[in-house]
Amino acid sequence: MRMTYFGNCIQLTFYPGVFPVNCYLVKEADGLTLIDTGLPSSAKAIRTAAQKLDMPILRIALTHAHGDHVGSLDTLRKASPNAEVMISVRDARLLRGDTSIDPSEPQVKVRGSVRPCKTSPTRLLNAGDRIGSLEVISCPGHTPGHVAFFDTRDRTLIAGDAFQTQGGVAVSGTVRPLFPFPALATWHKPTALTSAKHLRQLRPSHLAVGHGNILVNPLEAMDAAIKMAERKLKGKI
Ligand SMILES: [Zn+2]
Repeated sequence: MRMTYFGNCIQLTFYPGVFPVNCYLVKEADGLTLIDTGLPSSAKAIRTAAQKLDMPILRIALTHAHGDHVGSLDTLRKASPNAEVMISVRDARLLRGDTSIDPSEPQVKVRGSVRPCKTSPTRLLNAGDRIGSLEVISCPGHTPGHVAFFDTRDRTLIAGDAFQTQGGVAVSGTVRPLFPFPALATWHKPTALTSAKHLRQLRPSHLAVGHGNILVNPLEAMDAAIKMAERKLKGKI
């Protein structure tokens, strides 16, 4: 596991070479907020990282309910039974294995690995909610209830799989041949593109994603990724 320090965050990367999966520890005055929980095998290393920082994990917030983001949720929750567990209202259904689509949503099947968890969230998130310094930003598309977390202290955006940087910067749904997996697991590409534009408008200072390295000053790269997604959706490339 690799630890990368930036601002108030630490990126934890599992399998950095082959299939990088990231989760994040965000420092707050009272302790840590863990964003996503990696793979089922990641729990021990996440706890060791928190011990190294000498701060308790008080909150676990999930960007979405795919297996590579909620993999260690049950184990970590057992180790920290008092930690708050948060996910969007919409993806809470996926977390318990319910993949049904609402009549108001695009009638497309949820894709990617949905791995039901025993842990129930203690708090359901809506756009605009605050978790310490983090603001909850709704960005559906990869899953119907995907959210990002925007650190209001320094404009760092933890975007989950709304973007990827591994194999080239891309909006969720754009296949990057060197790392196609997030695209293949994307529920609805037009929705993901709308969300990507919304995230770009936040003018983040850092883009931190589920798969790939952190981007500093990411606006140009985000613009290029949005353009590419637009052209692909229009069938021009
Ligand atoms: Zn992922």
